[in-house]
Amino acid sequence: MTSSTPWQRTARGAGLLDATGHLRSTVFAEMSALATATGAVNLGQGFPDEDPPEAVLEAARDALFGGSNQYPPGRGVPTLLEAVSEHQQRFYGIDVDPGREVLVTAGATEAIAATVLAFVDQGDEVITFEPFYDAYGAVIGLAGGRHRTVPLRGPDFRVDADELRAAFSSRTRLVIVNDPHNPTGTLLDDATRSSLVALAHEFDALLVTDEVYEHVVFDGVPHVPLSTLPGASERTITVSSGGKTFNATGWKIGWLSGPASLVSQIMSVKQYLTFVNGSVFQPAIAVGLRLPREHFDDFTADLQSKRDLLSAGLLSAGFDVSPARGSYFVVADAAPLGYDDAAEFCRALPQLAGVVGVPVSAFCGPTLAAEHSSLVRFAFCKRAEVIDEAGRRLAALRA
Ligand code: PMP
Ligand code: GLN
Repeated sequence: MTSSTPWQRTARGAGLLDATGHLRSTVFAEMSALATATGAVNLGQGFPDEDPPEAVLEAARDALFGGSNQYPPGRGVPTLLEAVSEHQQRFYGIDVDPGREVLVTAGATEAIAATVLAFVDQGDEVITFEPFYDAYGAVIGLAGGRHRTVPLRGPDFRVDADELRAAFSSRTRLVIVNDPHNPTGTLLDDATRSSLVALAHEFDALLVTDEVYEHVVFDGVPHVPLSTLPGASERTITVSSGGKTFNATGWKIGWLSGPASLVSQIMSVKQYLTFVNGSVFQPAIAVGLRLPREHFDDFTADLQSKRDLLSAGLLSAGFDVSPARGSYFVVADAAPLGYDDAAEFCRALPQLAGVVGVPVSAFCGPTLAAEHSSLVRFAFCKRAEVIDEAGRRLAALRA
């Protein structure tokens, strides 16, 4: 098949096409299918195995039976726009006008896609960290942009200040900042946050922050949205989603906030992607965003204990483990167990131990993939007994 459309070129460039030109599934779908086919414990794709909070479920049921089944307003239902605004004020002291500065999207994925499509012209450069969430590379390609990356290296996956500066050029249009970071579980430090804002000013770039794990930050460290830094808010689009915070990844309710003029440009793209979505789920996520602070604290504490449980299980199974400071994920090095190729290891792991993980190389271009070749991402957003069982199974690797 000859590549002709932007998507075909993007898919080929991103390695999404197989030798016969057919679209391959994403690494997440592939690994979930492997788990289903083999009965392995699925610590691959990052989705919780528990339901949303009861109040959130009830609100969805009420909306379903209460007549909220037609197209919602293009910007989002008013109660969710207001709840996003209240949430930003309550947790971060950020002022957001719900009527002009918020847009509801089909998950964070659409928020990012619409933002990139709204602002990136042919040949413009978009910076992300690497490893990066797979959708970033795909949508940058689709927009005709050039993807520049700043490598994150283990065991801490910190940003190197010189490498960050080196990624910027006069063609830089956007910087997609994922903090807390999938797949490494790292958090940005204050110096990197300040540099990002300073560099965005110097090179006149927009900042797009993917904060879907904003409530999954451990060890008492506060989450710091980039838009709270001096000089950041006028050039920052802040993206989040109800999927992670409320155990509702299937609902695909995301949102973004930022300066009204930027948000309306993004909305003009969004209306021709999905138009609108999730009339029943939008009011339910609004209820979630208004839950008392203890709910959010308990949610974080629960995930922190699961992080500890999985990290301990991986260590005792013989992996080296990077400290996960946020997100749903922990990165483990299989090299001490004698496995240098994590992609091969992950394909064999259901047979070897009855567990599924995702190779970190799937989030990298070829150069960094080679450097990170023995690293595996495991998700701990699962019930404690599932994590325990995975730990017991992984212990067999040493036997
Ligand atoms: N960004 C990151 C970093 C993610 O890990 C995910 C999904 N898991 C998303 C975006 C997509 O979020 P959503 O399901 O709300 O589209
Ligand atoms: N974000 C989830 C993960 O990183 C998966 C989402 C998806 O399958 N696209 O595992």
